[in-house]
Amino acid sequence: MKANTFESRLEYRLVDGLALQTPVVLLGNLFLAAINAALFWERLDHFYLLMWSLSLLTVGILRWILAGTYHRYSKKLLPSLWQKLFAFSSFLQGLAWCFLCVYASTLLDFKGITVLVISMAGITAGAVASTSSSVSSFLSFSIPTLLPIGFILISNEDTNIRAVGFLVCVLFLLTLRQVMTINSLLRESYGNGIELEKSKDLAEQLSKELYKLSTMDALTLIANRRGFDEALDREWLRARRTSSKLTLIMIDVDYFKNFNDTFGHQVGDECLKTIAAELNQFARRAGDLVSRYGGEEFAIILPNINEADALIIGQSICKKISQLNISHPTSKTAKVVTVSVGVYSAVPQRMEESRQLIRHADHALYQAKADGRNRVATAISDI
Ligand code: GH3
Ligand code: MG
Ligand code: MG
Repeated sequence: MKANTFESRLEYRLVDGLALQTPVVLLGNLFLAAINAALFWERLDHFYLLMWSLSLLTVGILRWILAGTYHRYSKKLLPSLWQKLFAFSSFLQGLAWCFLCVYASTLLDFKGITVLVISMAGITAGAVASTSSSVSSFLSFSIPTLLPIGFILISNEDTNIRAVGFLVCVLFLLTLRQVMTINSLLRESYGNGIELEKSKDLAEQLSKELYKLSTMDALTLIANRRGFDEALDREWLRARRTSSKLTLIMIDVDYFKNFNDTFGHQVGDECLKTIAAELNQFARRAGDLVSRYGGEEFAIILPNINEADALIIGQSICKKISQLNISHPTSKTAKVVTVSVGVYSAVPQRMEESRQLIRHADHALYQAKADGRNRVATAISDI
């Protein structure tokens, strides 16, 4: 069973319930054990009572260790196995009570037996709450606790004691029915909770997908203008906070209108896709972002690089695009598709806006166009 299937998650929740009830189970058992030992101190053998209290305490400590191990290593074992371990610890507890009952029933009078049975009814009622997330745990506890004493009392000659034994058996059936009802309600409620969590996870996943789609360009599959704007604001603030350099590279395809006019828009689209894929290779570090700024213009955000490196990247972009060797007979710059690149790097200052970076990079791009295209120009870093 995989750890994240519905069934497995449900079963783990039910074991969670058992583990969480451990302190209550322990305190309840010890409290009742102390009362019983005090009540029967004069009538039962002291050594037996002490040994019995000690064994109940030992079983309680084992249960405590089991719950602690479960909290730490719950995923190491299947929930069904944890359930068996908890059921076994409940069985040991039930067995301890069984020893007291069987021993005491032979020595106590009707009044004493009644007190003993009331104690067993109390501890079983407590078990209804603490083991309702596992019917097998409840059975493991209640069978040794109630049935041996019940049958012993039923087989007694005294009618009154027989009636008490009969009541013990009825109590067993009633509490079992109660546990089964609570267990199915718990399963239903946990199941609904898991379904709700699943729906929440799905909604979160969908909203992430939607956000991704809303910031992605449908044609080139790189970030769109919205993605660019958000990334620029984010990186601008980060660079301002850390007083580090932020570089913006603007890229525009040369004579792209002529390209479309020559080959048609569909070929133009394919060309833009190829260029976008090539440019995407330049985003190598976290924070780098290649985007389609609009039409046949692209923008690259590069945090934390100096102007000299930014210029080298710009030149490398020009070279790589022309090396794609996409034929462009109507370009006035070259026989292949080329791009012009504007580079601008600056350490953002307190009062300035990220838009200034675009203005300067755009200005550099305009300069590259004016200088003859298929080249890089940088703007002077004055902000
Ligand atoms: P310049 O060298 O000065 O940049 O010249 P240009 O022809 O590239 O510039 P211009 O602004 O005159 O034309 C841009 C062209 O880009 C016009 C438009 O049809 C084309 N374009 C913009 N978006 C797309 C697109 O999504 N697909 C295609 N195929 N063409 C596009
Ligand atoms: Mg343009
Ligand atoms: Mg152009």
